[in-house]
This record gives sequence, structure tokens and C-alpha cells, in this order.
Amino acid sequence: MASSRALVCYHQLIQMANITLSTLEEPLLQPFWDYLHTNYQDTLRSPLCPVILSLSTYFILVALYTVLDVLAQRWHCINKYRIHPEKPVTWKKIWRTLSLTTYNHLVFIFPASVCQWYWRPPTPLPKEAPSLSQFMFGILACTILFDFQYYLWHILHHKIKWLYSNFHAIHHEFSEPFSLATQYQSAWELISVGFWVTANPILLHCHCLTAWVFMMFSIWISTEDHCGYDFPWSLHNLIPFGLWGGALKHDLHHQKPTTNFAPFFSHWDWLGGTSSDTFTAKSKK
Ligand SMILES: [Zn+2]
Ligand SMILES: [Zn+2]
Repeated sequence: MASSRALVCYHQLIQMANITLSTLEEPLLQPFWDYLHTNYQDTLRSPLCPVILSLSTYFILVALYTVLDVLAQRWHCINKYRIHPEKPVTWKKIWRTLSLTTYNHLVFIFPASVCQWYWRPPTPLPKEAPSLSQFMFGILACTILFDFQYYLWHILHHKIKWLYSNFHAIHHEFSEPFSLATQYQSAWELISVGFWVTANPILLHCHCLTAWVFMMFSIWISTEDHCGYDFPWSLHNLIPFGLWGGALKHDLHHQKPTTNFAPFFSHWDWLGGTSSDTFTAKSKK
């Protein structure tokens, strides 16, 4: 009797798994992709589309966090979620980070975008959308690869003094990061990061929709890393087993630059013996 009940449960589990897998394989994104294809074909094919998408994603996110930073100086209900509630984000810090970000965008990103617009052929748009599984696994794979690439770049730029002082020290000017500190970095760091975000979806043969969403996702998680908030809905609180380092671990990297070199996941720092949770433990007591 018990064995036949177990068999039924097992059968139901297999059925549920099959349903989930077949849902992931269904062309659920096709209607959305058809809509974009019909209404915004010229915009999407433009080589400037990824540049505009990434710029607007970054500035929208940073604007939202900066409003919170300013309000947090008066409102305890916001300030209590800040990792360093005793260190306000002053206007001086905001202008300093905003000026370098604007300079980098005007001097490096804008000319690169113009070259891209002039020389790069329009992006080919396939008729078919990616399946949900291709879309999700594509974003995950691009993020895992980016995490590894930045981990290597980061550890190298901390271990080699010349690289650190010329290219990475500027990013460590703020030991308590806030959203605008995300792109407070040298042009070399900005170009390296931009290169992997563009190259990874090409290397992994992703659909252009996957590539664009990965680009926006990478900007979101990088900004969240630096936002200076420990919200209950922050990714490091949602993803189990401490797999995601997120804002707390990256904040600790800015305080103790010999630990937590990986930008998003924790596994490389676990394997390399450079992981530190001191701050996480402190904030959760
Ligand atoms: Zn940082
Ligand atoms: Zn660093």
C-alpha cells in the first residue's frame, strides 16, 4: 500500500517536472518579441540601441538610489536600511562621482558610440524569440562568465601595485560605497567591464533579446553591489546559502580591499580563500 502511494507521488513529481520543462521550452517570449519587431524594428537594429539602453538603465537606477540617499538624511525609515547609517551620502560625494561619470561618458563612451553607429552594420533581428529556458540560462551563463572575468581582473589589479595605482585605486576612493560610486572608475575599468558585457552574449551565442536584458541585468546588479543598502529584498538576502555576495560583501571589499574580489557570486572567493563575511555577521546580530 505504502509503496503504491510512493509510486503515485513519484509519478506526480515527474509529471510536474515535465510540465515545468515544457513551459520553459514554449515560445512564451514570442508575442513580446513580435511586438518589438513590428513596432521598433529600426530602433532595435541601430548599433546605438545597446548604448542608450545601458545609459538609461544606469541613470534611472542611480537617480532612484540617490533620491533615497538624500531622503535617508531625514527619514529614519530609509536610513535604517543603509549599511553605514552614520555616514550620510553628502552632496559633495554626489557631485564628485557624477562629474567623473559624466566625464567618462563624454570623453570615452560617446566617441566609441559614434564610431559604432558609423561603422557597425545594423544588428540583424531574428524572427524567432528565444525560448524561456534559452533566455534564462543565457543570462545566467553570461553572469557567471562575467563574474569569473571580473574576479581575475580585480585580483590582478589589487595584487600588482602599478595596475592598482593607475587603474583601480580611484574606485576605492569611497570606502562606504553608494550607487553613484558604481561607475566611479578609471576609463580602463569601464572599458574592460563594457567589453565583457558586450562580448559574453556573442561568445555564448545568445539571442539579441537575451544580450540586451543581460546588459541591463548586469548594470542593475553592479549598482545594487554599490548601493549601500541592505534591504530584505536585496539579492544577497533572497539567494540561499550565501551564494550571492551582493551589497554587503562588496561593501566589505571597499573597506578591506584584500577580500571579496568577485563582484556577484561567492564561489571564487570561497575557493581562493579570500571570502570575508565579517560585516554580514555584524549586520545580522
Ligand atoms: Zn566597487
Ligand atoms: Zn577592488
